[in-house]
Amino acid sequence: MFQKSTWIRLPRNVVVGHDVLSRTVDVVDDLHLHGRPLIVTSPTPREVAAAPIVAQYEERGIDPEVVTVEKATFESVESVTEAAGADDIGYLLGVGGGKAIDIAKMASDHCGKGFVSVPTAASHDGIVSGRSSIPEGDTRHSVAAEPPLAVVADTGVLANAPWELTTAGCADIISNYTAVLDWRLANRLKDVEYSEYAAALSEMTAEILVDNANMVRPNLEESSWVVTKALVSSGVAMSIAGSSRPASGDEHLFSHQLDRLTPNTALHGHQVGVGSIMTAFLHRGDRGIWRDIRDALRAIDAPTTATELGIDDETVIEALTTCHEIRDRYTILGDGMNEEAAREVARKTDVI
Ligand SMILES: [Zn+2]
Repeated sequence: MFQKSTWIRLPRNVVVGHDVLSRTVDVVDDLHLHGRPLIVTSPTPREVAAAPIVAQYEERGIDPEVVTVEKATFESVESVTEAAGADDIGYLLGVGGGKAIDIAKMASDHCGKGFVSVPTAASHDGIVSGRSSIPEGDTRHSVAAEPPLAVVADTGVLANAPWELTTAGCADIISNYTAVLDWRLANRLKDVEYSEYAAALSEMTAEILVDNANMVRPNLEESSWVVTKALVSSGVAMSIAGSSRPASGDEHLFSHQLDRLTPNTALHGHQVGVGSIMTAFLHRGDRGIWRDIRDALRAIDAPTTATELGIDDETVIEALTTCHEIRDRYTILGDGMNEEAAREVARKTDVI
């Protein structure tokens, strides 16, 4: 008897382009939401993006609640969740880099109220997906949440974000190659649910980005366009899969472990990029795509070594040998690598 079922949750409006920030309230209107908006932002995005959105609402006689968060701590999640729980708040807008959006996403999940993502940096695929990286003690971990109801990504604003945030977003997308390799392996060995469509979309997204790597240059609005479209399509792949599998494998476990061992040292996307070089080597050895991944990262100015990440060699080895313990996600690491093997892969790929 046929008993399969699938539930795909996607953002309803995805608006990317020049000056689309000025149309934020129109995008929200199209969702037919009720109640007052709660805008979650942080200090810099508040000036460049949240203030103009508040002005748009005020022109229409709506007075949004605004919460500015300084840090992605458990306390800020608590205070945003409390504000979002107020009866008159109908929905949330996360306006900022990863931090404000992650917090808005968590609070929205908690209160069962929808949220709109307004990224001011194209730094990771969490700006479009339901996945969010939440603080827990001195570490972070990834949880599944609803995807945003809408995404408003203004390429002019994104182009003004610090350049390394954009290269981190690119590296996060390039790592889709190894995430998909891990996913296929887990499907073959552990019967993990797999979607060929989501896998193909995720790989194609990485490929398009690599093919257009020469267009990814600082202060170029077109770069933000290329990167944001890729982040959107990566997020859609996760929505179709109903998990972060299409965009998160062993390279993400490696990055999460670095976050524990050496918090706030390097950007998420940069860490997964370096992780992806080593994971590619583990999958296919020296004849595999690890060099292509490294060269693509180099072409966009993303780090390819421990030194460029600002992380010492021993920490990289420790992360490699322990990251399989983080969560129940089967990858090429299986039940873990020993130290000798970890050193060898890191050396052979010039990471250390
Ligand atoms: Zn990522």
